[in-house]
Amino acid sequence: QALIEIDKLNLYYGAFQALKNVSLTIPEKAITAFIGPSGCGKSTLLRTLNRMNDMIPGTRIEGSIKISGKDIYSSEVEVESLRKNVGMVFQQPNPFPKSIYDNVAYGPRLHGMTNKKKLDEIVESSLRSAALWDEVKDYLKRSALSMSGGQQQRLCIARALAVNPDVLLMDESTSALDPISTLKIEELVQELKSQYTIVMVTHNMHQAARVSNQTVFFLNGEVVESTDTETLFSNP
Ligand code: ADP
Ligand code: ADP
Repeated sequence: QALIEIDKLNLYYGAFQALKNVSLTIPEKAITAFIGPSGCGKSTLLRTLNRMNDMIPGTRIEGSIKISGKDIYSSEVEVESLRKNVGMVFQQPNPFPKSIYDNVAYGPRLHGMTNKKKLDEIVESSLRSAALWDEVKDYLKRSALSMSGGQQQRLCIARALAVNPDVLLMDESTSALDPISTLKIEELVQELKSQYTIVMVTHNMHQAARVSNQTVFFLNGEVVESTDTETLFSNP
């Protein structure tokens, strides 16, 4: 079942066309990997899914993107509620220079939650979902910046999950990490797919093969192939 439907999408940075006639469906509760050489538009397409491209002046978009049947570029959709539903984790872990607790509580507080008991519950369940609770439960008041890179990235995942999104976008979210932290996040992502629709950009074909259900190949701003990952890597 498709959660996201992208139809004939063109994206221009000024005069430069970064996405060319992209049509693609993204299945729900599965992992879709975007792969392809550097500069071919993977990150650009990922960012259109929560309208991060709106923040870049001179960007123009044609075509449509629907999430759960709703056109996310229509005037009825507010960017803030879209970003709540579509979380993003970047390449570099970017926790706020605040406590571990305040990082996870950030989104819920932004959306008006003040009840301390509820916040505690959300912080715990989000950290559990991000496979971090056992490591940090006694240190919630410590600065997030005191954590290792891998822990910081899992914290960023917990922060995104705390507002209960349907979709989690990951933009090369393991490429700044060591191999063991990378494997931990790959395992984590596998667990999260039972509850979330995950779209990840990776430059690593092996990672796509290990974790994704659907693989999408990009070349020069075009989607050249979109395939079931298992079929792809079992048929030479
Ligand atoms: P990938 O994620 O596949 O490496 P990107 O989506 O980041 O590729 O970039 C696609 C193309 O768009 C590249 O040629 C890149 O230089 C260009 N590009 C990306 N961001 C901008 C921007 N803000 N302004 C102008 N060109 C951009
Ligand atoms: P942006 O300018 O893209 O909105 P911010 O500086 O607000 O970015 O946020 C930086 C980080 O915090 C990003 O990783 C983003 O995904 C995360 N973030 C922003 N808002 C929320 C929220 N309401 N809930 C959870 N995470 C959030």
